[in-house]
Amino acid sequence: MSERIFIGVAWPYANGSLHLGQIAGCYLPADIFARYHRTIGNEVLMVSGSDQHGTPTTIKAEQEGKTPQEIADFYQQEFLDCWQQLGISFNLYTTTGTKNHAEVAQDIFLTLLEKDYLYRDTVSQAYCSKCQRYLPDRYIEGTCPHCNSPNARGDQCEACGKLLDAPELMDAHCRICGTPPVYKDSEQFFLRLPAFRDRLLDWVKDKKHWRSNVLNFTRRFLEKGLIDRAITRDIDWGVPVPVEGFDNKRIYVWFEAVIGYLSASKEWAALSGDDDGWRPFWTDGVKSYYFIGKDNIIFHTIIWPAMLLGYGGLVLPYDVPSNEFMTIEGKKISTSKNWAVWLPDYLSRYDPDPLRYILSISMPETSDTDFSWREFVRRNNDELVAAYGNLVNRVLTFVYRNFEGCVPEPDELSDADKALIENTESCLEQTGEFLSRCNFKQAIMTAMSAAREVNRYLDEKEPWKVIKENKQAAATSLYVALNAINTIKTMFYPFLPFSSQKVYEYLGYESRVEEYGWQPQRLPPGQKLRESQPLFSKLDESIIDEETKRIGT
Ligand SMILES: [Zn+2]
Ligand SMILES: [Zn+2]
Repeated sequence: MSERIFIGVAWPYANGSLHLGQIAGCYLPADIFARYHRTIGNEVLMVSGSDQHGTPTTIKAEQEGKTPQEIADFYQQEFLDCWQQLGISFNLYTTTGTKNHAEVAQDIFLTLLEKDYLYRDTVSQAYCSKCQRYLPDRYIEGTCPHCNSPNARGDQCEACGKLLDAPELMDAHCRICGTPPVYKDSEQFFLRLPAFRDRLLDWVKDKKHWRSNVLNFTRRFLEKGLIDRAITRDIDWGVPVPVEGFDNKRIYVWFEAVIGYLSASKEWAALSGDDDGWRPFWTDGVKSYYFIGKDNIIFHTIIWPAMLLGYGGLVLPYDVPSNEFMTIEGKKISTSKNWAVWLPDYLSRYDPDPLRYILSISMPETSDTDFSWREFVRRNNDELVAAYGNLVNRVLTFVYRNFEGCVPEPDELSDADKALIENTESCLEQTGEFLSRCNFKQAIMTAMSAAREVNRYLDEKEPWKVIKENKQAAATSLYVALNAINTIKTMFYPFLPFSSQKVYEYLGYESRVEEYGWQPQRLPPGQKLRESQPLFSKLDESIIDEETKRIGT
């Protein structure tokens, strides 16, 4: 029976290009997961969008002498281009800048207010007397009171991951001019997070399927106890607070951005011509997955679930497969130091599938992993090209030339033939199981092992030689190999959608791979093949130096 799967993916700030760490962290795993579920016949809704509010965008706008909207629009287009080129198959990728999003966010705000989960209180808000403005979160920097890291921001310490309020910072100063802030009283709305603690603790009890880092972090956080959090700020860029007297304030971005999952679902439904089409993805019977990086766990296992509990009637996350971080050439990614590999830059020179391959097979699922250009070239040449691409190309070209461009008619299958088919089919089943558990690395390694097995089989059978004295024997082993390739392209499809689609077409099919389904099927003998091209290209080692030099400069 088909299941409904909701996939929410972290909302990137619209203040800079995407880098490989973000792709490996959440966009690629989410896409692999979505493609797998679509192929097995489930209904999938995968949404995300750009977080265009918040200080990262206004800071960037000030640096570039543009309006925040100009910055947001520029990156929205760039992100959309990247998703298309890399094959990240969102059902909708929107932004928090839509009227729909503001309405949904205000509705949640007002409902929580009505249910007494929000209250007003006066806080002292940082103000820079030199810049003559309030200083929201990221406009203040200082020393973290928890771990003494010197570069903590007014909203969160990146070093220890703790959420902060600016007054907690030691040696706080304005990030624009360096002046220590003064504090002025200002009335804000607060979310009563502690009111949800017991229900959240109860909710995480049966989350044994969560990754241990996510579960442990969430439990520890809840057990320590929650505190009320201000959810409005004195800023002018963001969703207006729908309460009289709050005209100069906006809903704070960490409260507002997570609502994007719901507002994007509603926008998708409206665009599909069924205003209520979002409901089945938010009510009982759906499994909701949120793909995020580890710095985002708290928002998806505590704050968003609390908001959903408070609002009522909507389904909480089923799983939050959060990844650890990816380092580049052994060092932590730093966008300010340009220590990153930027996705638009990569896509301007290379194909999407090799990147999808290496990020999948070295995905930071349970610990940090590293991307290096040397590893990229090695894995591309020794694994993707040598073990899989060459196999497909060699078999397809040989069959095309020697069997009149058709799937050959096999003789009775020998034990070795049957063993290969069985192994391939059992790899398909295992790959599916790993994928359904968000175990992407194991899944792609299983697919690769299936390809290696076909290579071993062909090394034994040598149809290229056998064909000279026994065409029927060659036809049989090539038939078996073609079938194995057909099944392997399904296993690889979630990871390598572009090349799997090509293999599918070379094998003579017309439709999209997803429509073929996940079940193993035998190719009909006599089916007309298409002339194939190599799937991947070998990369020259000289690019290692060239590419490495670009990083950090
Ligand atoms: Zn800290
Ligand atoms: Zn200042």
